[in-house]
Amino acid sequence: MAVAVSICEQTVRPQKRTYESNKLQKRLRAQVAQAILDFEMIGPGDRVMVCLSGGKDSYGLLEILIGLRRHAPIDFEIIALHLDQGHPGYPAKVLPSYLDKLAIPYRVERQDTHRVVKRLIPEGKTMCSLCSRLRRGVIYRVARELGATRIALGHHRDDILETFLLNLFFAGKLKAMPPKLMSDDGKHIVIRPLAYVAEADLARYAQLKGFPIIPCDLCGSQDNLQRLQVKAMLGEWERKFPGRIETMFNSLARVEPSHLLDRSLFGFASLGAAKPHLTAADIAVDSAPFGEGASPLRHANVACDNRQ
Ligand code: SF4
Repeated sequence: MAVAVSICEQTVRPQKRTYESNKLQKRLRAQVAQAILDFEMIGPGDRVMVCLSGGKDSYGLLEILIGLRRHAPIDFEIIALHLDQGHPGYPAKVLPSYLDKLAIPYRVERQDTHRVVKRLIPEGKTMCSLCSRLRRGVIYRVARELGATRIALGHHRDDILETFLLNLFFAGKLKAMPPKLMSDDGKHIVIRPLAYVAEADLARYAQLKGFPIIPCDLCGSQDNLQRLQVKAMLGEWERKFPGRIETMFNSLARVEPSHLLDRSLFGFASLGAAKPHLTAADIAVDSAPFGEGASPLRHANVACDNRQ
């Protein structure tokens, strides 16, 4: 009897796994297709260079794009790029043997940026900023050499939201991570097709697919403490109030400039422009808090506006 149960479990588990993997894959493809459409990320004839770091997100991105291309109504090419940054203990064979099985063109570019970063950044300091700049330079150069018209990166929904909160809390800016952007020199278009995809889904997908993950701590850099704090905070909110991350992320696509304070985004000056402008003396009187000369009507309006 025990043997029968065990055989039964052995056949059911892989089936369940395949079912779960297919269901998740379908959802991920739909989300990526929607982001591509919404932001016009890829057009006919584009050559999309997918940057593969060896982490769960970029593996997911590459496989989802390959799957979408098979059914897409337009023709586009995919080339994978992996940058070997010369980290100690880097497993050089993992990516090429994985990419060989996918049967897509790829390039593994070796640039020892690790040595440069180690030389320039004092011991104990975070190396990520310089490392990312050097990596970006290599990526742009290879994109030019390969004739890539799009550079696809594996940042997802949670990366975008975390960046938004980091900018809000630490930089004093309402700014996230663009789903599509042009490089400063105007020569490259960078896209983030995973913009609508949750990190937890990518982690599950990587597990189900058994991607050969290359550990991200080979460089020996310290983690970005502020980002870790924001990530932990979001995780805590989501546990206490499920759905908060989705709601916060959706707010990034529903901006109301008239209810913010950026005068370059909304023409506050033109409101009521037909009426004579207030003089400095009017403003001095009008801003007296409930004192002599203050307008009760004005204060009633302000209170009302605060409740919106
Ligand atoms: S974690 Fe390491 S490899 Fe990644 S950006 Fe930072 S320094 Fe570079």
